[in-house]
Amino acid sequence: MTRKTFDFVVIGAGVFGAWAAHELLRSGHSVLLLDAYGPAHSRASSGGESRIIRMGYGRDALYTRWSMRSLDKWKALEEEVGRRIFHPTGMLWLVGKDDTYTRQTQQTLERVGVEHQQLSVRELEDRYPQISSAGIEWALWEPGSGVLMARQAVQALVADSILRGLEYRLASIVAPTTKARLDHVVTNAGEKILAGTFVFACGPWLPTLFPDLLAQRIFPTRQEVFFFAPPPGDDSFASPAMPAWFHHPALVYGLPDLESRGFKVSVDKHGARFDPETGSRQASAEGLAIAREYIARRFPRLKNAPLSESRVCQYENTSNGDFVIDHHPEMANVVIAGGGSGHGFKHGPAVGEYITELLTNSGIVETRFVLAGKSTTQARNVF
Ligand SMILES: Cc1cc2nc3c(=O)[nH]c(=O)nc-3n(C[C@H](O)[C@H](O)[C@H](O)COP(=O)(O)OP(=O)(O)OC[C@H]3O[C@@H](n4cnc5c(N)ncnc54)[C@H](O)[C@@H]3O)c2cc1C
Repeated sequence: MTRKTFDFVVIGAGVFGAWAAHELLRSGHSVLLLDAYGPAHSRASSGGESRIIRMGYGRDALYTRWSMRSLDKWKALEEEVGRRIFHPTGMLWLVGKDDTYTRQTQQTLERVGVEHQQLSVRELEDRYPQISSAGIEWALWEPGSGVLMARQAVQALVADSILRGLEYRLASIVAPTTKARLDHVVTNAGEKILAGTFVFACGPWLPTLFPDLLAQRIFPTRQEVFFFAPPPGDDSFASPAMPAWFHHPALVYGLPDLESRGFKVSVDKHGARFDPETGSRQASAEGLAIAREYIARRFPRLKNAPLSESRVCQYENTSNGDFVIDHHPEMANVVIAGGGSGHGFKHGPAVGEYITELLTNSGIVETRFVLAGKSTTQARNVF
């Protein structure tokens, strides 16, 4: 029996792999997408309930442009699959004293042409009486931004791609050991899968698959997420009364109560080193206390709100937060795509387009995504 040789095999059906497979398929190629546990499963970085899509990135126009491009594509997907993927909640930046990052964000939004508005404390209080303005000097409002329903979006994308001809399989791929061109990958059941090119979009598992190359270049960290029940009969913590928000100096962000899941709060600061396969998914009492302390100050009506759910996820950080999307230095027909670094979800569509450009048109290489530029020490500057 002759085995089929795919043009592309994409390993990992998180947001990066699912969009890469979708775009490679659209460019007219045969594509197989594989995942060990299923698209956006609950331990994948893409597996959470919801993710913010904002345009603001400090002075970084590259990610602002990618967010704009990606939002269009998320909306087109929503239209295509006929289910809710994007909630247009808007995005509110809470700005403290001397907050250079958010000031630069405002300047970039202006330069790139993203609709935004500066709010005074007075305007903030009038619009959002449920938010305490203590310690806030002004706010930046992005009306066109919002929240993506993460797990549902990736699963809808994969289902839609299957209808368009994508092959998808549940399979776990063992780490490739060759030092040359790769002809095939092998599943843990011993099956060989042949392709011209392989894309490894394995998120926080990438260091396990390529330990020599990535163990010191991708740092998975433990991140805790808490959902609080709003007061009964009170819709001021749900969209549209409540937007998505980010208090950058405090590195705390949150999402309104969407689809009755609860008011979501998380600390963006990197947690302890984390193994996505074996790490405990039980949130800590310390993490809960920090989240509670913040919401008690910022949202006084939620002071004693019951915890309705908690999750432990992981960021897969590169040294500074820029993604890694590049050819393997030894396996020429292997591309590595990952390093979402806590902000990658929104960019899935742009990442898929970039990978397709890289592989089908020998496209332009963005130097910030190349492997050689990744340091082995953490110095985050992309948020
Ligand atoms: C708590 C939290 C909040 C976040 N908030 C935001 C936000 O608001 N906005 C935003 O834009 N981003 C956010 N992010 C970041 C974003 O979610 C990630 O950057 C993105 O989901 C990474 O996707 P990925 O496809 O690279 O990885 P993953 O989603 O982890 O996908 C990798 C896949 O590879 C599979 N895999 C691994 N090894 C193998 C193997 N050997 N064989 C087969 N399959 C394999 C895994 O099963 C997994 O499904 C957040 C992340 C977290 C954890």
